[in-house]
Amino acid sequence: MPEAGALKLGKFRLRLLSDGEFRLDGGAMFGVVPKPMWERAKVPDAQNRIRMATNCLLIETGKDLVLVDTGIGDQHDAKFAAIYALDPAAVRLPASLAAAGYAPEDVTQVVLTHLHFDHCGWNTRREGERSVPTFPRARYWIEKGEVEHARAPSERDRASYFPRNWEPLFEAGQVELFENEVEVVPGVRAVKAPGHNADMCVVTLDGGGDERGVYWADLVPTVAHVPLPWIMGYDLFPMETLAQKKRWLPRAAAEGWLCIFEHDAETPLARIVEDAPGRLRAEPLASEVR
Ligand SMILES: [Zn+2]
Repeated sequence: MPEAGALKLGKFRLRLLSDGEFRLDGGAMFGVVPKPMWERAKVPDAQNRIRMATNCLLIETGKDLVLVDTGIGDQHDAKFAAIYALDPAAVRLPASLAAAGYAPEDVTQVVLTHLHFDHCGWNTRREGERSVPTFPRARYWIEKGEVEHARAPSERDRASYFPRNWEPLFEAGQVELFENEVEVVPGVRAVKAPGHNADMCVVTLDGGGDERGVYWADLVPTVAHVPLPWIMGYDLFPMETLAQKKRWLPRAAAEGWLCIFEHDAETPLARIVEDAPGRLRAEPLASEVR
C-alpha cells in the first residue's frame, strides 16, 4: 500500500481525495458577512464566485476502506458545468482513488454527510442509460431523514438533489439507513449536526489515545467559516448552524482535533484555536490533496 500522501491519526491513515473544484457565489457562501470582509478571505472571480473544493476523505483502518462523501460526479450536462464552472481537465475522484492505490471495489463503506449534489456525485456512475453504484462492494450510510427530505425537497433546495445519486443504491440493496448517529466502523461516527439542512451529519474520527479528528462537511465548509457568525446563506436553519458551531468548535479547539474542510480549496486541513471564549480561528496545517 502506498505511503505517499497519507496522514496518520492514531490507528487510522487518512487521505484527502479531490473530485475537482467548482464555484459558488461568494455572497451566498458567507450569508450576512459583508463582501469587504469575505473577499479578503476568499477572493471572488469576475462573476463573484469563489473556489470550492470537493475534498473527500479516505480512511484506511487496516480492515475497512471508508470513503466520506463522493464529490460532484460526472453525470452533469453542459449547462450545469458552466453554472458551477466545472473544470473538464480536473483530476476526479476515481483517478484520485487510483492514485492512492485503490480500485472502486476496495471501498467497503461510504459515509454520506448529506445528499446535496456536491457531496454524493460519485455514489453512482453512468453505465449506458442507467446509473449504477460506483463502489459495488460498499455499504452506503445515509441518515434516514436526509433520504426522506431528498425524495421530497422544498422549492428552496430541490436544485441540490438528483435522485440518480441515491436511488440506484437502494435498488442494489447497498444502503444502510441510520437515525441521528452511527458508528460505521470502530472510531468513525456520523453524527447529525443540523443547520445547513435538517439532517446533515459531520463525521468524527477517534484514532485512539487523544488522536481525534472531524470532517465538518457543510457545518464549517472552509476555514473562513470558523468564526461563529460566518454562516452560509444557503443554510436552511442558520441559527441551528450557529448552535452546532458553538457545540463543536470549542471542543475541537480544546482537544486539538485534526479538522478537515470539505470545500476549502486552499486550506483543507487545520486545527481550531479559541483565543478567547467564542473567538475562534483556524490554524492551517500542511496537507496534500490528490
Ligand atoms: Zn456542500
